[in-house]
Amino acid sequence: MDFDLSPWAEQWRNKLQTFFDAEVLPRHRAWVEHFADRSEAPPFMGDLQQKARAAGLWNLGLPELAGDEPGTRLSNLDYAPLAEIMGRLFWAPEVFNCQAPDVPNMIALQNCATPEQKARWLRPLLDAKTRSAFGMTEPDVASSDATNIATKMVRDGDDYVLNGRKWFITGAAHPNCTFLIVMGVTDADADRTRQHSCIIVPMQTPGVRLVRRLRWMGCEDHTAPIGELAFDNVRVPASNLLGEEGEGFKVAQVRLGPARIHHCMRSIGLCELLIELMMVRAFERSAFGRTVIQYDTVQRWIAESRVELEQARLLAYRCAWRLDQTGHHGAWRDVSLIKVAVPTMLQRIADRALQVFGAMGGSDDTPIHQALAWGRLLRIGDGPDEVHLRQIFRMEPTPAWSIANSPYLAAHPA
Ligand SMILES: Cc1cc2nc3c(=O)[nH]c(=O)nc-3n(C[C@H](O)[C@H](O)[C@H](O)COP(=O)(O)OP(=O)(O)OC[C@H]3O[C@@H](n4cnc5c(N)ncnc54)[C@H](O)[C@@H]3O)c2cc1C
Repeated sequence: MDFDLSPWAEQWRNKLQTFFDAEVLPRHRAWVEHFADRSEAPPFMGDLQQKARAAGLWNLGLPELAGDEPGTRLSNLDYAPLAEIMGRLFWAPEVFNCQAPDVPNMIALQNCATPEQKARWLRPLLDAKTRSAFGMTEPDVASSDATNIATKMVRDGDDYVLNGRKWFITGAAHPNCTFLIVMGVTDADADRTRQHSCIIVPMQTPGVRLVRRLRWMGCEDHTAPIGELAFDNVRVPASNLLGEEGEGFKVAQVRLGPARIHHCMRSIGLCELLIELMMVRAFERSAFGRTVIQYDTVQRWIAESRVELEQARLLAYRCAWRLDQTGHHGAWRDVSLIKVAVPTMLQRIADRALQVFGAMGGSDDTPIHQALAWGRLLRIGDGPDEVHLRQIFRMEPTPAWSIANSPYLAAHPA
């Protein structure tokens, strides 16, 4: 088995790393300071995006670009080490147009949109001329069960009329978010999995209201601020329907596989940074006559973090490889495995890093508490752990033998 990156992936990784070190990382302080009192993107973001695109570092997470659509066309497997580099800074993916929720939305549009919809909604996203959101979760129903989604989408002539409320919609509060893909009920009498549809809703449509901006565990997502939205008699042309009526789950699933694995790849990069931070801090600091790194406990935390990280990385690579080989249909199990493994690991490693840093670890001077919150979020967002664990369990084969006739067990006394 060859676990090395392909020369192709290696070449792209080196190129991205060089750009990241020269152009992105030096602006991190300015980025943090910018958002101390503002909410719009910092002025250097546009310049950085232009430079990244000119260097060919653009739309790195989209293997299936068509025609003249801009991007690298890397496979999911080749993208994995690149996503890790971007994952080291929460805002870095945007420089390369690789940020959530836009990339999963691009994938949904690639797979389900008509040529007209692609020209109007996908192309501007590919060019970073706009931002987008995906609206499924609702305050009034347990949204981890997508069949509960209750927003009404009623056909009226050439339009659909939407009524409902969505919350925790990532990116919906971004000033450049011009549209969102909304899931709603089009036929309450259909089979449970055919009741819902997805439709493209321009944010400026009368009746769409940003109720409030939400924070998560005290953290603000500046790259894709989270919103709660109300839809009051929102009239949208039926031509905005994404896929066929009743195909809402299909659209959601097409985007969820890549959304989940991309989050995991970036989180692995973040864990790599957390280990580095632990090392640096523990080597520099002394307590009770020794450097902190000399304490067995700290060495063990770092070693355990390394063990967990290497396991997770291999699982992420296999998941990416499966996605390349079989598409999302064949990769469901791996996506669920990685979706459970990585966020819990991120939480554990961030918790250790916070402890090693002492008080500073929980302050805004480090990214550690954000990493902790991010790990916690990923255990709920895109499907809670419990839902994935249930799916993983269901894919375990039913035993083919009984305790009494098992060749692996000692004979059972009669
Ligand atoms: C920061 C953030 C960003 C988000 N961004 C988006 C977004 O962009 N778009 C969007 O549509 N949604 C988004 N979400 C919402 C997220 O996807 C939902 O919160 C998630 O699907 C769970 O739905 P819920 O909150 O309604 O929890 P519920 O469905 O009420 O579930 C609550 C709990 O019930 C338990 N549970 C549920 N099902 C099972 C089961 N089968 N077995 C055992 N226990 C179970 C779990 O412990 C679960 O956490 C975001 C959430 C957060 C926190």
